[in-house]
Amino acid sequence: MCGIVGFTGNRQAAPILLDGLSKLEYRGYDSAGLAVRDGETLAQVVKAKGRLSNLIEKTDNGNALKGTCGIGHTRWATHGEPSQTNAHPHVSGNCRCSGSGAVESEVVGVHNGIIENYTELKEKLLKHGYTFYSQTDTEVVIKLVDYYYKKYNLGPIDAIAKTMVRVRGSYALELMFHDYPGEIWVAPSAIRFIITFSVSEEVLEVYLAESYLEYKLSFPENKSSAGYHWKRNDSENKRYWKNAEPLQTL
Ligand code: GLU
Repeated sequence: MCGIVGFTGNRQAAPILLDGLSKLEYRGYDSAGLAVRDGETLAQVVKAKGRLSNLIEKTDNGNALKGTCGIGHTRWATHGEPSQTNAHPHVSGNCRCSGSGAVESEVVGVHNGIIENYTELKEKLLKHGYTFYSQTDTEVVIKLVDYYYKKYNLGPIDAIAKTMVRVRGSYALELMFHDYPGEIWVAPSAIRFIITFSVSEEVLEVYLAESYLEYKLSFPENKSSAGYHWKRNDSENKRYWKNAEPLQTL
């Protein structure tokens, strides 16, 4: 079962994300990856097949990735073999080298679970000019968010909500949008997230994990099938949404 973590705050994200993933290692996985961004810069993606220690080594304990906002993932393959290309994060843009390095993409994300109707959605997205580099259902859902975001000029919440209406399956998504530095978006369906806040040096930091991490201030709100959005230093800006009207076109 895969693991998902996220962090946004004032400290370097990559070491915190690696620490979080190591606490979820017991769940089993076949590859791991991180996407970290520094302010408005492009997200940097690094992935490695096999043990988390490979990713730790590849990123020099996370020190090679600069940035205070990021997401991380350990994958348990359901669609596509265990490989670096199929490892998460996946990106919405055309990244031939399996999304490694700086990615010119609007949407970067990780995913736990299964998108049951991904074949049908992939065929439609191919017709709309999207190219796929992995065998995963995850890349399809990331590109579907991108499609709604761009075509309808929707903000992230609406784009994700429309996507959630369109996909079938049980899943948890964690996304960053290039237009929204320092912000992470989460959309769980039938999978629980733990979101914790900690105030350090009067700065609000936000941790996210699919399972309990040893961070203290647990955020008790539990609204299944809702989405969450937050950005650092602004707990009031956290929003959630429940349902969206389906869009007819894709
Ligand atoms: N279905 C996705 C994949 O095969 C996510 C698997 C997981 O939950 O790790 O990449």
